[in-house]
Amino acid sequence: MIPGPIEISAAVAAAAAEPPRSHVAPDLIERFGAALAAMRKVWLAADDSVPVILAGSGTLAMEFAVQNLVDRGDAVVLVNTGYFSDRMAEMLRRRGADVTEVGAEPGDAPGMPQVAAALKKSGARALFATHVDTSTGVRTDAQTLCALAREHGALSVLDGVCATAAERFEMKEWGADAYLTASQKAIGLPPGLALCVLSARAAQRRRSLREMPPLSLDLDQWAPILRAYEERKPAYFATPATSLVWALGVGLDEILAQSMDARFAQHERCARALRRAWAALGLEGLPRRPELTANTLSALRFPAGVGPELVPAIKKHGAIVAGGLHPAIKATYFRVGHMGDVLNRQNDLERTVRAVARGLADCGWKRDESAAVAALRPRL
Ligand SMILES: *Cc1c(COP(=O)(O)O)cnc(C)c1O
Repeated sequence: MIPGPIEISAAVAAAAAEPPRSHVAPDLIERFGAALAAMRKVWLAADDSVPVILAGSGTLAMEFAVQNLVDRGDAVVLVNTGYFSDRMAEMLRRRGADVTEVGAEPGDAPGMPQVAAALKKSGARALFATHVDTSTGVRTDAQTLCALAREHGALSVLDGVCATAAERFEMKEWGADAYLTASQKAIGLPPGLALCVLSARAAQRRRSLREMPPLSLDLDQWAPILRAYEERKPAYFATPATSLVWALGVGLDEILAQSMDARFAQHERCARALRRAWAALGLEGLPRRPELTANTLSALRFPAGVGPELVPAIKKHGAIVAGGLHPAIKATYFRVGHMGDVLNRQNDLERTVRAVARGLADCGWKRDESAAVAALRPRL
C-alpha cells in the first residue's frame, strides 16, 4: 500500500511474465500501436497528440519533457509543491533554463495569482508543475494551471506520476501540453516504462530548439518509430521494453473497460472512505485544505507521542505503508497509497485500516479499530 510500485492485476502480471517478444514481432507491433492509441484515451488527449513510451522510470519521463520542450536560456516557471518539484527544478537548471520557482509550505500549494504574476513577470515559455506531489499528498489545480499557461503563451507540463489514470486530467479540454507518468503508479504495471503524451504544439517545440536533447531521449528520433508502431509497421531506434509494452496493452484495456469518469470517481470514493477511516483513528492529513488533498494517496501526520516506528509496526500487522519523503518534515508523517487494482480489493483496504489501527495501538495510540473499519464500508 505504498504510493508505487502498486499492486497489479493478475492479468497484467501474467502478460508481463510471458517470454519476451522481439520489438518487430507482429503481435508486439499490433499491441504497441494499440497501446499508443489507448494512451490518448486514458489521457483524454486530442487525436493529433503524440503519445510516447520509453524504457525508464518516471524520472526519465520528466527528463524527456525537459530535454525536448526547454532550451538553454528559456524562462520557465515551476510550481513547487515538494520533493518531485525540487527534482524537476534541478533538471531544468541543468538544462540551462532560467527557473522561477513559485512555492508554498509543505502541505500547501501556491495561489493562482502568484503563478500568474510569475508567468507574466518572467515571460516564461513553459510552466512546470507536479499534479500530485507524492511527498505530501498535495494535488495542484491542474486545470487552472493549464489555462494560465495558455493565457501567457507558455507550454504547460504536468508531472502526473502519482496521478495519471486516477486523478481527473483532461488533456484536450484543459489545453495541457505534456502529461507524463511512470508504469508503476496508477497505470498499474511493474516499474520500467516512462510514459508521456505531448500536444501537437509541444511536439512542435522540439523543432525550434537550438540545443539538441541527448540522442536517446530525442523526440525527433522517437517520433517516427512511434508513428510506425501506430501504423503497425516495424521500426527500430533503440529496443523498447517489449515485455512491459505487452503488459501495458493489457493494463490500459483494463483501465478503459470503464469510462475515465467512472475511474476518477472510483478513486475519489475510495479516498473519501479512507479519510473517514483515518479520521475515526484520530489521524490528520498533511494537505492543508480539502481541495488540495489527493485521491491517490493519504499523507498522514503521526499523532502525539507516535513517530516513524509506526511504519514497521503497521507492517507487523500485515500492511506495507511508506514513511515520510519531504526532507523538511520527513519524520512527522507516513503515507498510504490507494491507486489502481487495490480499489477492487475491499478486503485489502480493510486489512490496511486494521493494520494501521493496530500499529498505532502498539505505539501507544489506542483508538476504536472497528469504528474505523465501519467508516470505510459504506459505498466503496
Ligand atoms: C514516483 C514519482 C516520480 C519518480 O518516478 P520514478 O519512477 O521513481 O523515477 C516523479 N514524480 C512523482 C510525482 C512521483 O510520484
